[in-house]
Amino acid sequence: MIINLAYIVACVLFILGIKNLNKPSTARYGNMLSVFGMTIAVVAVFFEGPVLASWNTRNWMENSYLWILLAVAIGSVIGIVWSKKVKMTGMPELVAIYNGFGGLASFFVAFTQFLPGDGNGIQIAVSICLTIFTGAITFTGSMLAWGKLAGKVPGRAIVFKGQKPLNAFLILAVAAASVVYVVPGIDAALNWPAVLSVMAVSLILGFLVVMPIGGGDMPVVISLLNSLSGLAVAMAGFIISNTVLIVVGATVGASGMILTLIMCKAMNRSIRNLLFSGFGATDAVSKKGPTSEPKAVSVEDAYMVLEAAQSVVFIPGYGMAVAQAQHVVKELAEKLEANGAEVSFAVHPVAGRMPGHMNVLLAEADIAYEQLKTMDEMNPVMPSQDVAIVIGANDVVNPAAETDKDSPIYGMPIIKAYECKTVFVLKRGQGRGFSGIENELFYMPNTLMIYGDAKATISALSGEFVSE
Ligand code: NDP
Repeated sequence: MIINLAYIVACVLFILGIKNLNKPSTARYGNMLSVFGMTIAVVAVFFEGPVLASWNTRNWMENSYLWILLAVAIGSVIGIVWSKKVKMTGMPELVAIYNGFGGLASFFVAFTQFLPGDGNGIQIAVSICLTIFTGAITFTGSMLAWGKLAGKVPGRAIVFKGQKPLNAFLILAVAAASVVYVVPGIDAALNWPAVLSVMAVSLILGFLVVMPIGGGDMPVVISLLNSLSGLAVAMAGFIISNTVLIVVGATVGASGMILTLIMCKAMNRSIRNLLFSGFGATDAVSKKGPTSEPKAVSVEDAYMVLEAAQSVVFIPGYGMAVAQAQHVVKELAEKLEANGAEVSFAVHPVAGRMPGHMNVLLAEADIAYEQLKTMDEMNPVMPSQDVAIVIGANDVVNPAAETDKDSPIYGMPIIKAYECKTVFVLKRGQGRGFSGIENELFYMPNTLMIYGDAKATISALSGEFVSE
């Protein structure tokens, strides 16, 4: 009774924790609530009947406390060391690993509950097969996603002839092997090979499903795998009748799916297109190749324009994360404000490489939330802005999304930087955005390029204000 109560309190804390994550100002508090909920859930496990019973065992190998504490210790050390080491740009990789291990844990829970013959009953047997299937796909899929993001394996989409039929065949094979185990009365001797086949084929499927997805789409896939890991946890909860796993797994599954859909919408892609189109398999190039060179400008000349500007909008992108330029951006913003300009930040929902990437970086630099504007808030007032400073953003300001039907980003809503009176684009060279296409913005008459690392360029611009 008390244990169930503890689990319910933990569930409520998790849900409140997630709710608080929807605003940057309450996100830290939300995280703490979830940590507290998780602590309660872990401590409650120590008082579960079978765990308590293992206390009196003579054989220390059978003492559950030992194994739980060992697992908690190993997991905590790895988690703390990894979280401290990871850079902001490496967050999606870390999440990929977390998802993978979540899937693996559910996979193991299901595996330990397997009983040959009709010992499990149909419902549990079905849950075991589904948990092994989702857990295994999440594990190998997440490991490949991690490898792609960390540059351990080629990040591009890998497609080969017959890939979809092969995947369909393997899914059918998993279903057939599951039937052999689940349906009562089938020879018990076949149960082990059947379950092992479900495992092996599902592990292979995880690789095959993620293989045809290209580097830039990986954050969406990671969100989808996050959702799958939640489903695996919920199903593992059914197998061992654990309320907290069911509730938390379902919450993670649903929130991961919502996030995936939000990201797809912001990129104007469907999940089907994302999973099966092989986007990024080739180096896409816009057919509308510009003929002239982009106009470059020096920091000194750019300063003259900024000094006279009454309104300035910063448009951050992935390059700002790479350069870690957020703190110097804040410094420049303050100097512009002191100079009489109205400063705002236009944040595109998929700028960077994970949802909220830019918001997190700008919040880290203590930039006021009121200054952060969404794309929909900012676009109508773009023509009235004197200057747009595009900091390492590319795809999210690419007009090809509006004008070039052949472009892979056609239809993606963009921040209309091109409507501002003057546009400064800060980037290192001729590098393309994640979609690998040319950007017409760089060739427009009101656009001026300032080449170099974004942090160095912004520092130099800021320095000009000091030496005034
Ligand atoms: P992009 O990836 O399109 O462009 C980044 C730009 O930054 C490049 O042009 C690069 O040019 C420049 N850059 C890199 N390093 C530096 C540096 N140190 N200093 C200055 N510039 C630098 O970024 P966006 O943010 O515009 O777009 C994000 C893309 O990621 C979108 O296409 C989106 O769909 C995709 N995506 C985002 C997700 C999310 O959740 N945020 C999820 C899935 C996909 P150069 O090399 O010349 O410097």
